[in-house]
Amino acid sequence: MKNLQKLPLWPALINAKCPRCRRGDMFQNRMYGFSSQVMIKKCSHCDLVYEIEPGYFYVAMLISYAMNVAEIVSASVATYVLTESINPWVYVAITIILALILSPFNFRYSRIVLLYWLTPGINYQPELSKDHEMPLQGFDC
Ligand SMILES: [Zn+2]
Repeated sequence: MKNLQKLPLWPALINAKCPRCRRGDMFQNRMYGFSSQVMIKKCSHCDLVYEIEPGYFYVAMLISYAMNVAEIVSASVATYVLTESINPWVYVAITIILALILSPFNFRYSRIVLLYWLTPGINYQPELSKDHEMPLQGFDC
């Protein structure tokens, strides 16, 4: 049997590749840009349907919420340590600005975390990440 070359997890996760084959893209466009993010329906390499049932990505909203809370608490603690400000408007401004700036990041990576680690039945399958073999043309048995 031929040795399968396994694709590493982290580059595939950071670049939003398919969790099953780590080759196909999950999103049509870049994270930050003038157009809104559009998720591709199914993997172009292994045909995995990303939204495995209608409304599946509502769960990603909970992950996004947890990510947002962690980011805001971290930024608020860092602000307090650096400035020692007790003015609540500083923290309100940080919360609003951070939520707006990081919303594309949270949108994208909440879905990625959901599909990579929290969806049972979707695992990396190295045999699906190899190149498609071209069928032989004009070869009859
Ligand atoms: Zn795939």
